[in-house]
Formats: sequence, structure tokens, C-alpha cells
Amino acid sequence: MDNGMIRKYEKAKMYAEQTERMKVESLVVNFDGRNNPHAVSFKEGTWHCDCEFFVGREKCAHTMALELVMGDMLESLEVA
Ligand SMILES: [Zn+2]
Repeated sequence: MDNGMIRKYEKAKMYAEQTERMKVESLVVNFDGRNNPHAVSFKEGTWHCDCEFFVGREKCAHTMALELVMGDMLESLEVA
């Protein structure tokens, strides 16, 4: 890496610890579930998953796992 890239990498490492700077607006994930693969997406503040459990509940193990992984990086449209 050249010096310019090394400085950017140092900055990237600092940013990586400041996840509050990042707001994910949309996300598409291929989730390798225990029984089947699932298509999980996050868009405009809401989740969608193609698994059976999600239907009518709007939450499932896949979306909750991603909420745990993403933490406060998910853009929420909830009005304070
Ligand atoms: Zn699911």
C-alpha cells in the first residue's frame, strides 16, 4: 500500500469502531437458515423475510439476528 492508502486504512479502522456514523437505508441478505436459505431484506425502515414464521408477525429469527448484527446502523423511520 502507498502512504495515501495506509492513511486511509488507518481512518477506516477508526470509522469501523464508530458505527453510529453509519445508517443502512436498505439491505438484501441471503440468509443460510438451519433448514433452508432465506431472502431477507430491509427497506424504508421495515424488514421482509420469505420464511413461514415471518408471515403475520413481521419478525423472525432471521430479521432479529440481523438486528443484533447491525445494531444501531439500521435507519429507523420511527418518529421520536
Ligand atoms: Zn425469516
